[in-house]
Amino acid sequence: MKKLVVFTGAGISVESGLPTFRGTDGLWEGHRIEDVATPEAWQRNPELVQRFYNKRRSDCIAALPNKAHYKLAELQNHYDVQIITQNIDDLHERAGSNKVLHLHGQIRKSQSSINPNLIYNITGDKIEMGTFCELGSQLRPHVVWFGEAVPNMEEASKMAQQADLFVVIGTSLQVYPAANLIYETKPDCKLFLIDPNADQYTVPPVVVKIAEKASRGVNYLAKLITE
Ligand code: NAD
Repeated sequence: MKKLVVFTGAGISVESGLPTFRGTDGLWEGHRIEDVATPEAWQRNPELVQRFYNKRRSDCIAALPNKAHYKLAELQNHYDVQIITQNIDDLHERAGSNKVLHLHGQIRKSQSSINPNLIYNITGDKIEMGTFCELGSQLRPHVVWFGEAVPNMEEASKMAQQADLFVVIGTSLQVYPAANLIYETKPDCKLFLIDPNADQYTVPPVVVKIAEKASRGVNYLAKLITE
C-alpha cells in the first residue's frame, strides 16, 4: 500500500466546534497565547493555565469527530495512512484513525511538571491543583507549550520523508518546526493543502491547493486519490 501522510492543524476540528488559535482577534478563547500556553505563564499563574486547559479538555470531550476526520479514517482502506497532528484533541482516534502521532501533546493526558516523560491518563475532565506525580510535583496538561521542545519532531520528519502523498489540512503553517515538514518530503511525493485560506499561503508551486473547509476538501481529495 502507498503511504499517505496527513498533517493536520486546528482547522480540521473547527467543524466539530473547536475553534483555532489565531481567530480574527488573535486570541485563543479570549486569552493571549503568552498568558496560557508558555512555560512562563505556568510559572506566573498555574491556576489560570490549569483552568484554561480544563475548559479546553471538557470542550474536546464534548466535541464529536466531523466528516473530515471520518473520511481520513476511511482512506485506510486504500492507503497506509499516517496522521501527524498538531491538535491536542483526540478526534482522529475517535473517528477510527489507527496511526496518529501527536506533535503538541494530548489534552486528555497529564504530565509531571518536573519530568515531561511521566505522563498519565486523566480520569474525568479536570486536573486539580494539588494532584501530584509520583515525584511529588504538580500535574500539568500534557501539551507542548510555545518555547518547549517538540519531542516527536524527529519521528514526524521520518514519516514525511517516506510519504508517497503528503496532505496538509487546516494549519496556517506558522508554527515551527512542524511547518517545515512539507519541505522534507521526497521529490516525487504528491503534495496537497486543504484550507479555506490556502490561496494566502506561500508553499512550493507543486502543492495542489484545495481552498475549502476540511469536510468538503477531504471529500474532494478522497475522490481524487481513490478513483
Ligand atoms: P492556526 O490557528 O494557526 O491555523 C488554523 C488554520 O485552520 C488556518 O489556516 C485556517 O485558515 C484554517 N481553518 C479555519 N477553518 C477551517 C476549516 N473549517 N477547515 C479547514 N481549515 C480551517 O492553527 P494551527 O496552525 O493548528 O496552530 C497550532 C496550534 O494550535 C497547535 O499547536 C495546537 O496545539 C493548537 N490548537 C489545537 C486545537 C485542537 O486540538 N483542536 C485547537 C486550537 C489550537
